Amino acid sequence: MNSQLNKILKLLERGDWVCTSQMYALYMSDPRRRLCDLKEKGYILESKKCSLHDFHRGGSKMWRLIGENALNSEFEGEKVE
Ligand SMILES: [Zn+2]
Repeated sequence: MNSQLNKILKLLERGDWVCTSQMYALYMSDPRRRLCDLKEKGYILESKKCSLHDFHRGGSKMWRLIGENALNSEFEGEKVE
């Protein structure tokens, strides 16, 4: 798994909503593409219009990790319960 996916996963694994702008803040070049990659790997994500920030006036989405495919529970050698 590449390092950009790892960064996004670290944010999402807290279980809180994560705004796309927070992903750009990590120098993510293309968060939406990375989120698609995660879905392809079996991670289950939900999204809705961001209500965390005023500055982009709902023009951004926020994302939350709600589950993952059991087949993908091995993550860079770390055991995920
Ligand atoms: Zn936001």
